Amino acid sequence: MQVEFLIIGQGISGTWLSYYLQKANKSFIVIDNEQPNSASRVAAGIINPVTGRRIVKTWMIEELLSFLVPAYKEFGNELGINAIEQKSLIDFHPTPQMKIAFDERVKENADLLFNPKDQWQYQNTFNYDFGFGEVNPCYVVNLKEILPGWRKKLLSNNQLLEENFEFEELNHSNSGVIYKNIKAEKIIFCDGIGSSKNPFFKNLPFALNKGEVIFIESADIPSTHIFKKGMMLTSIEKDLYWIGSNYLWEFPDDHPTEQFRNQTELLLKKWLKVPFKIMDHKASVRPANIERRPFVGFHPAYKNVGILNGMGTKGCSLAPYFAKQLADHLVYTKEILSEADIKRFTKILTR
Ligand SMILES: Cc1cc2nc3c(=O)[nH]c(=O)nc-3n(C[C@H](O)[C@H](O)[C@H](O)COP(=O)(O)OP(=O)(O)OC[C@H]3O[C@@H](n4cnc5c(N)ncnc54)[C@H](O)[C@@H]3O)c2cc1C
Repeated sequence: MQVEFLIIGQGISGTWLSYYLQKANKSFIVIDNEQPNSASRVAAGIINPVTGRRIVKTWMIEELLSFLVPAYKEFGNELGINAIEQKSLIDFHPTPQMKIAFDERVKENADLLFNPKDQWQYQNTFNYDFGFGEVNPCYVVNLKEILPGWRKKLLSNNQLLEENFEFEELNHSNSGVIYKNIKAEKIIFCDGIGSSKNPFFKNLPFALNKGEVIFIESADIPSTHIFKKGMMLTSIEKDLYWIGSNYLWEFPDDHPTEQFRNQTELLLKKWLKVPFKIMDHKASVRPANIERRPFVGFHPAYKNVGILNGMGTKGCSLAPYFAKQLADHLVYTKEILSEADIKRFTKILTR
């Protein structure tokens, strides 16, 4: 079988890359082993334009939002689903000091941060003492339907192999790559944390980060907003809510822990005034890195070996934009943004 591109991984990165290559009429095969706890399968899909205790705008957010909102809508139309939903974030102030800090930031970011007049409108649902601020617009990406929806399309077009990619079976040279019975011009790794052990890219400065999530059932929480108090709470389907997450830089394995479950259950009992039932508990590892910038482009020593990775905590906002950059690079030889291009790691990749 001969194709132009071989893509490893169908998380949010491999999904968007294969989508844009499809749109450009390029031929490809995706290989994915459907790990149930891969980051894209555990994530909530939240896009929050501000971050941290200082509530600052995230990197490139204006440009990313103006690109990704129409991109998700178009992708959703193609899959016959609602791929993205705008929801504002209700950020309950944990202390009076944090309320003051938020109020200060409202003055500087009047396009995103708001101080709603009725500060007690959620008091039937939540316990809170110091009011709340609102971040708007935020978005929730429908990962639960996008990933299987696109997978189904790829399968029906014979463009997806549901198997484990084995490095030992790969031969690569300056004229292309051969993997088992597949000949391709280039191979592109969208394998999430897999790339941190990948012989071509393991020297990139990955800093893997574990996160855990609890799923609860409740009929009484408004599904219209994302709620935050220490952790984020958002609806992912009727009466089912996602609450997470923590950020661990050191961890013995990628399994859910009793400690997180107990802590989160306690938080929910204190925070929620309405009944809820814990339905599930998952853990995953984010393909994060020290710089907090994506890894995009081709290996400086192996011109047919590429990567789209390093999405960290922000795969839903970064993957579509940088998949398009990589696809445009492949189709029209356009430049990749230098802050994301792995050319910046030429020294360590050619060591
Ligand atoms: C708890 C948690 C919550 C998060 N919440 C959010 C959020 O709300 N919003 C947000 O934007 N981001 C969130 N993130 C981050 C987001 O999940 C990641 O940035 C994103 O999913 C990374 O996508 P990816 O496609 O690069 O990698 P992955 O999702 O890891 O996908 C890699 C794919 O490659 C496949 N694969 C790997 N190795 C092989 C192999 N050898 N052979 C075949 N297939 C292989 C895997 O099965 C998988 O399908 C969260 C992450 C975690 C852990």
